[in-house]
Amino acid sequence: MVFPFFDGHNDTILKLYMNKDMDFFKESNQGHLDEARAKRAGFSGGFFAIFPPPHADLSVPNPEEHLTEKGYDAPLAEPADHEACLKVTNDMVELLYSIEAQSNERLNIVKNITELRKTLKNEQMAAILHFEGAEAIKPDLSNLESFYKKGLRSIGLVWSRPNSFAQGVPYRFPSTPDIGSGLSEAGVNLVKKCNNLGIMLDTSHLNENGFWDVVKHSDAPIVATHSNAHSLCPISRNLTDEQLEAVRESNGVVGITYSVNMLRTDGKMNQKTSLDEVAAHIRYITDTIGIDHVALGSDFDGTTLPYDMKDVTGVPKVFELLKEQGFSEEDLKKVAQDNWIRVLNETWKS
Ligand code: ZN
Repeated sequence: MVFPFFDGHNDTILKLYMNKDMDFFKESNQGHLDEARAKRAGFSGGFFAIFPPPHADLSVPNPEEHLTEKGYDAPLAEPADHEACLKVTNDMVELLYSIEAQSNERLNIVKNITELRKTLKNEQMAAILHFEGAEAIKPDLSNLESFYKKGLRSIGLVWSRPNSFAQGVPYRFPSTPDIGSGLSEAGVNLVKKCNNLGIMLDTSHLNENGFWDVVKHSDAPIVATHSNAHSLCPISRNLTDEQLEAVRESNGVVGITYSVNMLRTDGKMNQKTSLDEVAAHIRYITDTIGIDHVALGSDFDGTTLPYDMKDVTGVPKVFELLKEQGFSEEDLKKVAQDNWIRVLNETWKS
């Protein structure tokens, strides 16, 4: 079943930036997302993250290297240097624009809801420019508007490290997300300015105090682009029932990620993970806060997927499973695309 779906989070630009020999327009069996595989799967577009990696070699903390009796406890990554992040960010934004230019209108970087709807209707691929972590933004926000003009329409305040605005959670299992303090004054200002400009705020990776500060200060729907249900998988990165309730109250959305250690009840980095686990998180969030508040947020090219998912071409299997479990055609459309469109329509100013 090929079903058009819009995705909350991918790290494909980072993959292409780090692997100059890879080409978005050439099908590969490496990584999770390229044009050919996207087309076959029904991937209609998504948030393309710009993520300045913590080290030049792209290494991120591996939970398996920090095992504890019941799970793992990886240290929080060090803060990243603003100037270094700014340079990498500019390079990666340029890379996304060069992909758009090479695509002969098969991929559009969309900047408003009209462009998004038109792109989806024409079956072109829609890309939203997203920053994963606000490190490239100056703490006085003096370069935020210039990034907005370049097409920035979504910001995750943090990755799993602290910055001038907020603190991310370390990868810890089992663990509450309540680790560390909330937004700084600069963070509160960033929330307000993003509201004014119409830039979506993403709470994935944020600690719980930071999350509640966003709820308090933001007038936009609360969004987590790639997070799952803490009740099913108690990793620090997932959302508690109270946080899910805040998403519902704000008319926001949660994008379900296929990261195996964020799906499994044992939190293990084990790729022998059934796609039933993906369906279970979608069902849990549907049962808890309603079908209008759950969507997809793969983390393609940024995480470890179940073998049964493999890459973007595995997504139709999730829709099959949901259909077997009684999700209606209308429900599936909401999960696949309509919930993201609604939230973006409410968040962006045009
Ligand atoms: Zn992430």
